[in-house]
Amino acid sequence: MAKVVLNQVSKRFSDSVAAVSELNLEVADREFLVLVGPSGCGKTTTLRMIAGLEEVSNGQITIGDRDVTHVSPKDRDIAMVFQNYALYPHMTVRRNMSFGLRLRYGGNLVSRMWRRWQNSESAAKREEQFQQIPAKVDQVADTLGIGKLLDRYPRELSGGERQRVALGRAIVREPAAFLFDEPLSNLDAKLRVEMRRELKELHRRLGATMIYVTHDQVEAMTLGDRIAVMDKGVLQQVGPPSEVYHKPANRFVASFLGTPGMNLLEGELVQENGRFQFRGCGIQLELAASQCPELEPSGSRKVTLGVRPEDILLTEDASAEWLAAGQGQVELIESLGDVGFVHIRLPADEANGAVSPRITAKAGVNVALDRSILGLQDRPAS
Ligand code: ADP
Ligand code: MG
Repeated sequence: MAKVVLNQVSKRFSDSVAAVSELNLEVADREFLVLVGPSGCGKTTTLRMIAGLEEVSNGQITIGDRDVTHVSPKDRDIAMVFQNYALYPHMTVRRNMSFGLRLRYGGNLVSRMWRRWQNSESAAKREEQFQQIPAKVDQVADTLGIGKLLDRYPRELSGGERQRVALGRAIVREPAAFLFDEPLSNLDAKLRVEMRRELKELHRRLGATMIYVTHDQVEAMTLGDRIAVMDKGVLQQVGPPSEVYHKPANRFVASFLGTPGMNLLEGELVQENGRFQFRGCGIQLELAASQCPELEPSGSRKVTLGVRPEDILLTEDASAEWLAAGQGQVELIESLGDVGFVHIRLPADEANGAVSPRITAKAGVNVALDRSILGLQDRPAS
């Protein structure tokens, strides 16, 4: 197993398209890193450069201690699992899973006879590894619950089974790192949840370095030890899921994660007589000094107040600690079954809340805000 490092890696397909720009990323040995971002942001290109399927335009990639920037894919010792499984249709599951190893340990009759004739220690070792392939395939197939499918062809399998075979094929190779490109997106929602749990468990058991690409923020939040958020070919933020979720580095990250994303309320932070107040969108909100950036005495500055929808509470009674009553009111609650989305009217803006679907507050009910959870950031000049 190995750590994977990208140093100033860029990819241009033409002068006008910079698919990936100066990407710096260090994936620790045994880490599960999720690369997440909207469609077209450069995730697949990044993975393909790590795999060696795409030449980098600039920069350097190392796997373990080895600079692999110009090493061919087959010599990089990594395995990639794709969204469309990419199984060989004319081979059985057993053959699909063993194919890579048979190639590596020289499987055809001529090469094996040549090996026997050579009679050297390394040739004997290879032959031994070759002999162990069937047992290894059986063992991995059992782990993944596909032991009974070994003699079937891909067309005789369901989507979930095919994805397990693709996974098995990667695992038997015992690569230094696994790369996944949206491996679950062709599965139905229920299976996706199940496979997500299994992948996490597999990662724990194998203790392998895994880089996992997805546009699905739920997958990112649940799977990653850390997540790396990309937009338009540029890395926006890397960190543990909860950190990226609660302390987004910028507006893109704040709105991309969460359903709906963070409410971003524009306003001004004002300091008067040692007290801090947010004023904007028609609301006024007292803030603790510890939540606020440095400010000149009696000064003010433009800020963005970030509020997660689930941190907005509905209340009949608003105490002084909270967003004062009447500043925000429920316009409408939509129940999605598992969550209720609340449309909130502020005097000069709107916001989204998320509550238990069991809450059936009527329009006009006040919303409250727990001050302790607020995030403030300086508003960019533009
Ligand atoms: P993602 O996987 O995040 O959806 P991709 O890495 O596939 O994004 O693509 C990133 C950008 O690079 C997109 O604008 C895409 O159109 C472009 N791109 C990807 N592959 C090629 C290619 N072979 N030739 C030209 N442009 C490409
Ligand atoms: Mg892609």
